[in-house]
Amino acid sequence: SIRPPMSAEERLMVAVRIRPLKPDETTRALYAVDKKHIILEDTDKFDVTRQKRALDKRYSFDVVFGENSTQEEVYEVTTSRLVKDVLNGYNATVFAYGPTGAGKTHTMVGDPNQPGIMVRALNDLFEAVKDKEDEYSVSMSYLEIYNEQIRDLLNPQSGYLELREDARGKSIQVAGLSEISTTSTEEVMQLLQKGNKARTIEPTAMNRTSSRSHALLSVTVRHSVPVDKKDHLRMRVRQGRLFMIDLAGSERANKTKNRGKRLQEGAHINRSLLALGNCINALSGGARYVNYRDSKLTRLLKEALSGNCKTVMIAHVSPSIAQKDESRNTLLYADRANNI
Ligand code: ADP
Ligand code: MG
Repeated sequence: SIRPPMSAEERLMVAVRIRPLKPDETTRALYAVDKKHIILEDTDKFDVTRQKRALDKRYSFDVVFGENSTQEEVYEVTTSRLVKDVLNGYNATVFAYGPTGAGKTHTMVGDPNQPGIMVRALNDLFEAVKDKEDEYSVSMSYLEIYNEQIRDLLNPQSGYLELREDARGKSIQVAGLSEISTTSTEEVMQLLQKGNKARTIEPTAMNRTSSRSHALLSVTVRHSVPVDKKDHLRMRVRQGRLFMIDLAGSERANKTKNRGKRLQEGAHINRSLLALGNCINALSGGARYVNYRDSKLTRLLKEALSGNCKTVMIAHVSPSIAQKDESRNTLLYADRANNI
């Protein structure tokens, strides 16, 4: 079964999630107008008539999740449809983008009371293949990319891992990466939380637990199907893969007053986020030529981003006035992916 080519709208969904205001944050500068629009108030500047509102900027996206959105709602709208694709042998990708503290890990991993996208997607996949273990297999790997180096988050002691391309340059593998087969949701939550603890987290001036690494969960579904419906002895394997990615904080190196090592990290992070932005821009019908070789992240995702696959980007913003500049940068990045 070959899927007909998809339109740009089918291939790419750009969503924005606004996290709730925290008790120590006093003033809101950003809010959802409706299910598709966000307004960012620009209270620093006044136009000549001193009408503040004239400078408010309105952004539109495929979906906007407001401060009261639930984990279930975010999963249902963005990812549950991708799970069906992956069961049918297609690849799909979900990204969480945004600055440190905006809610990326909450959306992707969450906690046992409010499980995030990664946990829910795996749960749905396990449900779908339950009692069909002879037909289907599901396995997962979890890695981080930090300073253009790859580490196994399920086996952090294994050191840096290399990317290997097959002879035709078509598929790419991470040599030595562990692949775990489990069908227990509790075990998955534990594996993800343990993996997250192994992520490279280093203090920056901005936030003590800022994540400087990209965390990439890859779930592979293999389905044995008969080559011919009348002949159940000859089987072939149909493979679908779902990538779920908690990106490194997108805040700029200068904002965090970084020097030396921090600055270099910033350069690496910016490089991969820029390369990713170019790839996503191409998906939305913008750029023609995309250089996937620009970063490890885009090399790993080439197969999933270049083919007839679906991609979801969930950009994360804080409503607080203190984060206004970061929010503007995030909305512009997402907007660029959205409508070129
Ligand atoms: P990031 O991964 O982008 O750095 P986190 O996911 O760690 O951000 O979120 C920062 C803090 O805000 C955490 O304490 C998290 O639990 C909380 N938080 C983020 N988003 C939400 C949300 N939608 N609802 C409730 N709490 C949230
Ligand atoms: Mg995080």
